Amino acid sequence: MTPARIVVVGTGYVGLTTGACLASLGHYVTCVDVDRAKVSRLAAGRVDILEPGLADLVTRGIAAGRLQFVVGARDAVRTAQAVFLCVPTPMGAGGSADLRAVEAVAAEIGDVLPTGCALVTKSTVPVGTSKRIQEMVGRTDVPVVSNPEFLREGTAVADFLGPDRIVVGSDELAAARWVGELYAELDAPVVVADAASAELVKYAANCYLALKLSYVNSIAELCERLGADINLVTEGMGYDRRIGRTFLKPGPGWGGSCLPKDTSALVKVAESVNYDFRMLTSAIDENIAQRDRIVAKIAGAVGGTLAGARIGVLGLAFKAGTNDLRDSPALAVASVLCALGAELIAYDPAVDGEIAGMTVVDDAYQVAKDADAVVVLTEWAEFKHLDWAAMAELMDGIDVVDTRNLLDPRVIVDAGLSWQGVGRPRAA
Ligand code: NAD
Repeated sequence: MTPARIVVVGTGYVGLTTGACLASLGHYVTCVDVDRAKVSRLAAGRVDILEPGLADLVTRGIAAGRLQFVVGARDAVRTAQAVFLCVPTPMGAGGSADLRAVEAVAAEIGDVLPTGCALVTKSTVPVGTSKRIQEMVGRTDVPVVSNPEFLREGTAVADFLGPDRIVVGSDELAAARWVGELYAELDAPVVVADAASAELVKYAANCYLALKLSYVNSIAELCERLGADINLVTEGMGYDRRIGRTFLKPGPGWGGSCLPKDTSALVKVAESVNYDFRMLTSAIDENIAQRDRIVAKIAGAVGGTLAGARIGVLGLAFKAGTNDLRDSPALAVASVLCALGAELIAYDPAVDGEIAGMTVVDDAYQVAKDADAVVVLTEWAEFKHLDWAAMAELMDGIDVVDTRNLLDPRVIVDAGLSWQGVGRPRAA
């Protein structure tokens, strides 16, 4: 299609990826943020977030004259054909999505948007938000389109440029189709929907993933109690094409910047229409129970009492491949350990700086020094390749709690240590 003039508001994981990728598809993109320092860094080609390929796309977009960064949405949107809202929608008080950033931008730009410009929500927003934005903007010549984003942190660029599907929804279907055409170069099915359905797709998909993870964590717990091995159980389940192989790994609980807030928001949306979404509230409760079971397992590894125990923590990010700590299950476990009196020494290859309640060090071996137990909380591949015999030499205790089932138990046992995973037989 003819390149379009696009403004992207918000330059976080979603906004920056959207801006840089749309520029790489040939569009002319202006990215806007309220954070002046971030805008200056980005304008100089400096990308803070860890996303493979993103810094390169930003540099190339700037060099090609197709990507720029500015502060101030109001001026930026005056000649735009589409404005993508990529601002945060965190969990608000009471558990609903906090739409203040989305509404602030709509209020800021509503009266200066050119006629025909599509106002596109890429932020995750509850059903009814497109309608609310349309009312706020108060104009019939500006179509509002929902275009939820499904990228995963750590593979954001690859996901954006190779999506499983593109969803565009509006009560003005022609506008939704036009937004879909902005992605014409990508080889992906485009689902064109009404606004409410498009908005619900994102929550329905994310919450399904949370349900699947809570389910597999429950099955892992059953495995431990029944003497079965979750690796074999999920291998057997995964061959069933109705189930699939992904999202079948147990862990310390699900987290990250999306699943906790999106599950909570959908429960609230359901409540607003008098539906008690019990299946989803159970998945949320189960996630807290999983965290507590992991804490109990770690307590067991240090003789039952966490107070005064020195615990080496491997991994803090919410998953491997990202430096994002928002709602990280690793931090959730760590904060309970800390509250129960454990001394935590932590290492994550993508995280530095200070974190309350622990000492963050810059190599994995420092974590092992004098540790009563070592706990793997994020599935960074490099932890598999540590010299576990050297780790064992440094440790005081012999227990390794592998909440991601990442390590090869034989390697740990050969190093003279004892291995406990999740839903698997202990190896000692
Ligand atoms: P983020 O916190 O990484 O980035 C948001 C950016 O918006 C920040 O740079 C912030 O300074 C900026 N901002 C805030 N208010 C602004 C305003 N009024 N004007 C201009 N800029 C403003 O957030 P994110 O992770 O990119 O998430 C954005 C949205 O996308 C959320 O709704 C989220 O649920 C959704 N989403 C996130 C992911 C993900 O993996 N992170 C995936 C899919 C969808």
